[in-house]
Amino acid sequence: SMSCIFCKIVAGEIPADILYQDDDVMCFRDVAPQAPTHLLVIPKKHIGSIVELEQSDTEIAGKILVTATKMAVQDGVSESGYRVAMNCGDEGGQTVGHIHMHVLGGRQMGWPPG
Ligand code: 5GP
Ligand code: ZN
Repeated sequence: SMSCIFCKIVAGEIPADILYQDDDVMCFRDVAPQAPTHLLVIPKKHIGSIVELEQSDTEIAGKILVTATKMAVQDGVSESGYRVAMNCGDEGGQTVGHIHMHVLGGRQMGWPPG
């Protein structure tokens, strides 16, 4: 969608530190990192939130997770450990309305999340 900040990153209209992309997904560094490694993996197709995922999105949803794994390996956190997270809606802490998987690592994570 025209007003979506992550669609603008996909379109190259605003800059991002892009680590990977293919026809379906893109990975870039979070602009406000909450850990030494803080990556975002997004579908290039605009989907507003994980609550909107449909059966036909099964392949892209899986690809987001598999890409997150590849990026965790590439960024060097796969052996020490890391976390993936997808926030959904207001109480889930979602602030950008385009699906994204956080990949966080390089420090000890806490549980439960805040
Ligand atoms: P959410 O809070 O929706 O789970 O995560 C949104 C994330 O996107 C936040 O961690 C925020 O720092 C990040 N973010 C917001 N705007 C931008 C941007 O323009 N560029 C990048 N690289 N990250 C962004
Ligand atoms: Zn979008």
